[in-house]
Amino acid sequence: MARYTGAVCRLCRREGQKLFLKGDRCFTDKCAVDRRTYAPGQHGQNRAKASEYGSQLREKQKAKRYYGLLESQFRSYFDMAVKMKGKKGDNLLSLLERRLDNTVYRLGFAMSRAEARQLVLHGHFTVDGKKVNIPSFLVKPGMVIALREKSRNLDKFKATIEANSFRQPPKWLDYDANTFSAKVVALPERDDIDLPINEQLIVELYSK
Ligand code: SF4
Repeated sequence: MARYTGAVCRLCRREGQKLFLKGDRCFTDKCAVDRRTYAPGQHGQNRAKASEYGSQLREKQKAKRYYGLLESQFRSYFDMAVKMKGKKGDNLLSLLERRLDNTVYRLGFAMSRAEARQLVLHGHFTVDGKKVNIPSFLVKPGMVIALREKSRNLDKFKATIEANSFRQPPKWLDYDANTFSAKVVALPERDDIDLPINEQLIVELYSK
């Protein structure tokens, strides 16, 4: 699967806000959004006010970039969300949250979703006791996600868990620090997702 391999800080500058794509650097004064408050590119400093379509597009791009997805992947989540009961926008965000790479990030095992994706691909996690190395794997209530025993003593994980100790896992995940594992106790709801995304704009965009 192709990935975006350009400079990720440009993506934040394009959206005009921090997307936290680079882990700890995002919390330092090296953050590009803090240093340059305008969009990247030759005309970044004199962009006109966005049209209705432009606002909807930007909201979709922002959500896509938070979760590190390509258009086709993102669109397939929307198609799934449409078929579910409830609000399409809430369903979309709930599905994105349930990705294994996002879950690992939420649990503080990685500094960014991109890093979480790599760690999942490298087989550091289990779901219900079995190794799962598919970042898009959707967790669901009752499942237990754990850092594999042989990975627990790696300096990398010790440092990351320590650095992320200030972050509280969301309430849909019941984390047990003693076993480096978490049980999914509910489906993520909109209130559990702290991202500044206006999902209604995404629904409007895809409903045209
Ligand atoms: Fe975005 Fe982080 Fe780069 Fe800042 S440092 S622009 S938040 S990726």
